[in-house]
Amino acid sequence: MDYASKFKVKPNSKVELGKIDANYKGEDEDKDSAQVTIAKYAQRLRDLQYLMYAENKRSLLIILQGMDAAGKDGLVNHVISAMNPQGCRVFGFKTPSVREQAHDYLWRIHYAAPRKGFVTIFNRSHYEDVLVVRVHSLVHKEVWSRRFDEINAFESLLAHSGTHILKFYLHIDKEEQLARFKQRLDDPNRHWKISESDYKEREYWNDYQKAFEDAISKCSTDYAPWFIIPSNRKWFRNIAVSQILVDTLESLDMKFPAPTVKIAEIRQKYHSALRQEEKQR
Ligand code: AMP
Ligand code: MG
Repeated sequence: MDYASKFKVKPNSKVELGKIDANYKGEDEDKDSAQVTIAKYAQRLRDLQYLMYAENKRSLLIILQGMDAAGKDGLVNHVISAMNPQGCRVFGFKTPSVREQAHDYLWRIHYAAPRKGFVTIFNRSHYEDVLVVRVHSLVHKEVWSRRFDEINAFESLLAHSGTHILKFYLHIDKEEQLARFKQRLDDPNRHWKISESDYKEREYWNDYQKAFEDAISKCSTDYAPWFIIPSNRKWFRNIAVSQILVDTLESLDMKFPAPTVKIAEIRQKYHSALRQEEKQR
């Protein structure tokens, strides 16, 4: 199954999250066989990221959004564990600081965008500025509604600068969110994750879904597509996202750079060094 084409949102298409099955788990997958596939993708991802780092020509930006407890942290952990930390960065975006608020909303985002050769993951992003900001009327409608065009222009700038952008909406339903809140409550090691606002924000579920539908519909473009990933099952979420990452990176046709030295000459140097070494023994 080609998950990239299955879950990619066509530009300007109508998005109705209520009609998308968050429980979907593929046609030929189950939890056990998935572990084998996931391990295979993880190895591929590692090789491709190494190639991107070596090539040093372009970058990959992975944007994760979703309701609270949708699994953004879990996915970061999954993707990042397959990569060499040297060429990889993660940025989590929280309520803007006083310093960040003194700038335009894209300032902190642009700063975090990947340099050539790097993979960067955004755990939340500039989309919060058309989600939480819209739901809680933190700015006027005229201000947030302009942002869809601004975001498209910004992402287009990044794309023109060699950044490949993939955006994932981790789709869980309301029952699954409550089940995950309960798991947090039952596990003392996860109590730190619980916040007062979890239950407050849950009351705005429908407003958030509407805001997500608009953002995904207006900002899914050919150069920065949105994917809606059924995420009630964590293993399926991991498999779908890993496959899309691997397929995208493979399609880039990356090449190791040509050596900066003449390998034949260096080989001769190696052999004479080896002979010296042997003589001295
Ligand atoms: P968490 O991801 O659970 O650590 O929570 C981060 C919090 O920061 C969430 O409640 C977000 O809605 C909030 N947040 C992130 N970006 C913004 C933003 N631009 N404006 C307001 N709140 C934000
Ligand atoms: Mg949270």
